[in-house]
Amino acid sequence: MTLLTIVDKSLCALLEEILLDQGNQVVVATDLEEIRSVLVERMSPAVVLLDFDRQSELAEICQQNRQEKIDFPLYTLALVNDDQLGDLMFKEGIDDFLRLPICLGGLRVRLRAAKRILALEMELANTRKNLHHTASHDSMTGLLNHKGIIDVLRQKFDLLGISDQPEPVSIVMMDLDSFKNINDTYGHLIGDSVICQTSQRLRELTRSVDAIGRYGGDEFLIVLNNCGAKDAFRLAERIRSAVEEDLVTIPDGVMNTTISVGVATVCQENGSALDLIGKADAALYKAKKDGGNRVRIAENGH
Ligand code: GH3
Ligand code: MG
Repeated sequence: MTLLTIVDKSLCALLEEILLDQGNQVVVATDLEEIRSVLVERMSPAVVLLDFDRQSELAEICQQNRQEKIDFPLYTLALVNDDQLGDLMFKEGIDDFLRLPICLGGLRVRLRAAKRILALEMELANTRKNLHHTASHDSMTGLLNHKGIIDVLRQKFDLLGISDQPEPVSIVMMDLDSFKNINDTYGHLIGDSVICQTSQRLRELTRSVDAIGRYGGDEFLIVLNNCGAKDAFRLAERIRSAVEEDLVTIPDGVMNTTISVGVATVCQENGSALDLIGKADAALYKAKKDGGNRVRIAENGH
């Protein structure tokens, strides 16, 4: 854990011994800028120990922390002359205060409590991150799930609404052809493996800025970043032919699979994310009706 101190230099010399003694990495900063750059550089939770006369810096640090501009939790401990000032600083958002003259034993105890709280905050943040990942991803393929990919598309639509020069949004909806036959012939576990291998192939065929989701069953949805109708069609065709050419591994050897694809594009705020999905889905349906293993573009799809 990093321990940052914005304090009077003489006070700092006094504190250094005890701070180092507890295995802390102590950084003495003279102003807020220095603190900020250390926080960015270290990327670790930190206790910030502040002198009472640095209230403006303190208020700013607390405010930033609340707005979550800093990725790691901070714990602010102020050194004050009297309890009244401590109360006042609580209103600014500090976590704790200690009265001057400083009692080293007291400081030791406060720092131990601060570390415990920071550890709990880190644990909570990690749990939250894991929960969010679980809620938005498909456990079998690791792709975004139905909700996850729709959320990505909704965010793109939000940008369309507020941007002066919006980037086009294209989506590619695809579905494995005759997938039920694979399940019926080889069983569901091999069916699962075919879905996973197709997912992996989709990852390889798209850019890292594109989002891929398992829309459901053997159906996938790709949200393309800043991609117009022509490029979206080209990519869809490239994916279709790659899936057709690549062989999927099964216990008996290898087999061919194909996909049908529907593409839809929107260039300005026009309808909703679900409207666009509806258009791509209708195009996909047409691709199936026309015999499968082909790409169709949505009517009024751009
Ligand atoms: P089409 O060419 O019209 O798409 O026909 P299809 O046989 O592929 O049929 P469809 O897409 O309508 O149905 C997909 C099937 O995928 C239905 C369901 O039993 C199966 N399925 C859905 N989720 C999973 C899964 O997680 N694993 C496996 N093995 N099968 C699944
Ligand atoms: Mg299918």
